[in-house]
Amino acid sequence: MKTFYPKKIFVEYGIADSPITLRILTKLPEVPIEYIDDYRKIAIQGDTINGVFKESKECLALAEKRGEMVKQFRCREGIRGGTEYNIIHGNNCLFDCEYCFLQSYLGNAVPTVFVNHDEMLREIRDTILSSGRKKSLFHAGELCDALAFDDLTDLSRKLVLLFSEFPQASLELRTKTTNIDNVIDLSARQKAGEGNVVVSWTFTPQDSIDLYEHKTPSLDERLEAAVKVQKAGFLIGLCFDPIIRCDGWFRKYDAMVTKLFNRLDHTKIKFVSLGGFRFLSSLANVIRERDPNSDILLGEFVPCVDGKYRYFRPLRVEIYRKLWNLIRKQFNDEKISLCMESHEVWNEVGAGENTKARLPDLTD
Ligand code: SF4
Repeated sequence: MKTFYPKKIFVEYGIADSPITLRILTKLPEVPIEYIDDYRKIAIQGDTINGVFKESKECLALAEKRGEMVKQFRCREGIRGGTEYNIIHGNNCLFDCEYCFLQSYLGNAVPTVFVNHDEMLREIRDTILSSGRKKSLFHAGELCDALAFDDLTDLSRKLVLLFSEFPQASLELRTKTTNIDNVIDLSARQKAGEGNVVVSWTFTPQDSIDLYEHKTPSLDERLEAAVKVQKAGFLIGLCFDPIIRCDGWFRKYDAMVTKLFNRLDHTKIKFVSLGGFRFLSSLANVIRERDPNSDILLGEFVPCVDGKYRYFRPLRVEIYRKLWNLIRKQFNDEKISLCMESHEVWNEVGAGENTKARLPDLTD
């Protein structure tokens, strides 16, 4: 993947001399720099909301994360004695997916890299140590694609090395990129670390990538990156999320699943997760404002207890059941899971009565 070359870099005064800042700036010579107090105050101008988003995505901010860099999330707390955490390593990314929840979640759309890695690594280490023998699962990629800026930051190197010390903890690096050089370089350390780092890709049929995942690598490029990472010795995860119910959706997923499972080593797939498109009304407003002609919101959506809109439940169950049955022909169905769905939906899909036992566990 080509290095992201922003039009402009914002640098907070407080981290202007940090070694990571200096290294990133060295890799991006000739890009104009504006020094600022606080990345949260960046205000990009534009004639339209869409213009502001597009302009923002052409910039990069280097900043210090104040407050927690490791946040527990509670939706699956207690499952199999493990606890899950998000690592807050950045905000936004260079891609521009129409469905990205960050569009209505963060104060601006400028891709932001947090350079206080030492604090982040210390927090992760402290969290693991305070968990004792309890399993803990860490996810990178929630508020920023896990590898989008890895060629600039080298963060994955530090994370893989850290987790190689702690086999009781696991790390998932979730990405859409082909930015895998650092990960592949570290394959020997990962084997020593008992395979507790999983690199997962969001896979989407190419038609939907073209329509909704602007500026992202193609399906084939993601697949080739996943093959290389498997060959380097890592386990990978497959995330079919968000599943968008467009015309011919099943035919497209069928072709994609066949392509993936023909090419990938099944023994090195840690999990497959399925998640239907879901959104808050605030995100729907942004999507409509950015592109009134977008068809992503067309469909039978209903509000759910968490405030998010999802496809009408019978439609979701149909989607999951069809995909589940498709995937289980080729893959152990105990490793397939639904993302952010209720026990009732799991059971309707026919995923088994013991939902808890089927929730994904990276530490297995
Ligand atoms: S890759 Fe992820 S973080 Fe980046 S725009 Fe798409 S959904 Fe958002």
